[in-house]
Amino acid sequence: MRLYPPISHAVLDKEELFRVPAFNDHYFSIKDPINERKVVFIEGNQLPCRFQALRPYQVIRIGETGFGTGLTFLLASLCFVKHAPITARLQWISAELFPLTSQDLEKILTRLPLTTELLQLALKLIDVWPKAVPACHRRLFHHNQIILDLHFGDANTVFSNLAGTIDAWCLDGFAPERNPELWNSSLFEIIAARSESLATVSTYTAARVVQDGLASAGFHVRKVPGFGGKRERLQAIYKGQPKRSAFAPWAPMIKPRSIVVIGAGLAGAWVANGLARRGYPVSVFDKQTPASGASGNTQGITYAKLSIEATPTSLIQMQALAGLNHWFSQLDDSTWHQTGVILVAKHATDETHQKNLISALPKFGSLIKPVSKSEASDLAGQLLSSGGLYIPQAGWLNPKACVDTLIAHPLIQVHSYQEIQSVSSINSNHRVIIKTKNGKLQKHDFETLVWTNAIEAQLFLKMHVPLKAVRGQVTHIKSHLKLKTPLSGDAYIAPFFDGFMTCGATYEPNSSDLTVRPNDNITNIESINRLFAQPAFGPNDITGQRVSIRTATPDYAPVVGQIAEPQSWAERLERLKYDATFVPDTPLSFIGGQYLLAGLGSRGTLTASVASELVISQMLGEVLPVSEQIRDALSPDRFFRRKLIRGVS
Ligand code: SAM
Repeated sequence: MRLYPPISHAVLDKEELFRVPAFNDHYFSIKDPINERKVVFIEGNQLPCRFQALRPYQVIRIGETGFGTGLTFLLASLCFVKHAPITARLQWISAELFPLTSQDLEKILTRLPLTTELLQLALKLIDVWPKAVPACHRRLFHHNQIILDLHFGDANTVFSNLAGTIDAWCLDGFAPERNPELWNSSLFEIIAARSESLATVSTYTAARVVQDGLASAGFHVRKVPGFGGKRERLQAIYKGQPKRSAFAPWAPMIKPRSIVVIGAGLAGAWVANGLARRGYPVSVFDKQTPASGASGNTQGITYAKLSIEATPTSLIQMQALAGLNHWFSQLDDSTWHQTGVILVAKHATDETHQKNLISALPKFGSLIKPVSKSEASDLAGQLLSSGGLYIPQAGWLNPKACVDTLIAHPLIQVHSYQEIQSVSSINSNHRVIIKTKNGKLQKHDFETLVWTNAIEAQLFLKMHVPLKAVRGQVTHIKSHLKLKTPLSGDAYIAPFFDGFMTCGATYEPNSSDLTVRPNDNITNIESINRLFAQPAFGPNDITGQRVSIRTATPDYAPVVGQIAEPQSWAERLERLKYDATFVPDTPLSFIGGQYLLAGLGSRGTLTASVASELVISQMLGEVLPVSEQIRDALSPDRFFRRKLIRGVS
């Protein structure tokens, strides 16, 4: 991903402003940009009547190559608001390899002849415009009825890895002869593979390469009169079927009648909130009260632990980091503190790792910065023992308060002290037996069930997921030390809040012991003292502690997604024992309406928001906000497949 040079202040001429010198082409027609977009892309895909015909809760998914200024998206959004029923939804999935800066976006959009309504929407887009980080940036508009998934990356790569299918395509992206890299022959195969049956395509060009490419990929193509003096342009309709990965679940696009989320920690609260925001009523059951487990701490340091290779765990954390401020600012409360976080390089090995990280991840430069000892000390407001990495987008969260804010939604009903005893599933009905506070057993039926009750989910899942308990004790310290930024090394420390500073947490895998251990407080204090030039705290500063159990997985990545049907998987994947690359040619079965989000480990404050959007999108037939590779790498069935490959039954 590259950035264009910023538009100079001297550029006042519209023609120049709308032109991209690198391609010697314009974002849109100079003479009549609005009507060009309307005629070519909106009417070209028959969007007004398709929006009008949407069923309640149905989502229409539109793919675009080249988001540019977002003008097409803005016009389509207004058209959707005008024509669609109020419970229907629009998902706009766009790939942009050269994202504008928000300043340049503003310069261009505010020079266009926009109506008041359009300008309002444009200002909102400018307001939520993401940093140029190569990831999917999800943004919600118009009472959350419109989802924008803005993928900063090459259209060919983004759409070939897309986890989901598209109903209508807007093929933009400069003239084919000026941008052959985008319009290469594989683009048409890629979009065909991601097209729903009868998906439409519209584009302003009638270039031979596009016409032939679409036709040979399975589209029925026709030429129509071009816009604004151009002779012809193309429209097409897909005559084939989408090519779906046999391992990927595909939800029918219907409104679930009833949804229950089991477990009211951060994972459950984000899932419930995301569903409620989309207009779905949700019941939340917890065996105690909300945020009584690992999400009950007052301070949770929130940053990404990255690896040099682009592993799915690292990528999902990067994506989450890039979106942190956006998602937390939607909550409109004071639970999130974007103070930045300093990863202090305590050991020579840390220093080497950090250096390698910086050179391996140049595209993520806006998210991680190396800092010297004196720069780090200035940022922290305290003399530190060494420099390290500074993550400006990071900070600390009050997880307990965040959970309370997320579940305080009129469509969410929280039921505390409801302990799940069993679940039995027949077709699309899940009967849950619950023990209430006074020991009575009650039965409830739900169509959709999301397990967000950490390690306890294991007890009820048909497919085994190897979740493990990790005991962690945090220590509360009272001190006059003024720390501006959380620090992290072998342990972390957060700034003073509500009477104490939190430090910790200890990390003890395979232990569910909730007993307080005084020695753990000493370990925590010793670890954080090493982050400062002089030891800052002693045992007398300890004012309290909290023990909780986090849930982790063997590969440290969360588990997110629909639960697979173990018996049929075992039968159909027999060949995996001999051929690790085996992929069945028809889809595998999943348990209808059962989903899992767990194993967030110590990174729950960071990744819960993205992971919840992933699971909700899967549930509601939206395109996922992560690539197919990441979906696969986070899927609850990955361990089952790995076991088969290793020949362990
Ligand atoms: N749809 C846009 C709008 O409404 O403003 C205009 C799109 S403009 C004609 C073409 C866009 O495609 C530019 O923003 C350009 O940076 C982007 N682009 C060019 N090559 C690309 C590629 N390989 N992948 C993704 N985007 C690309």
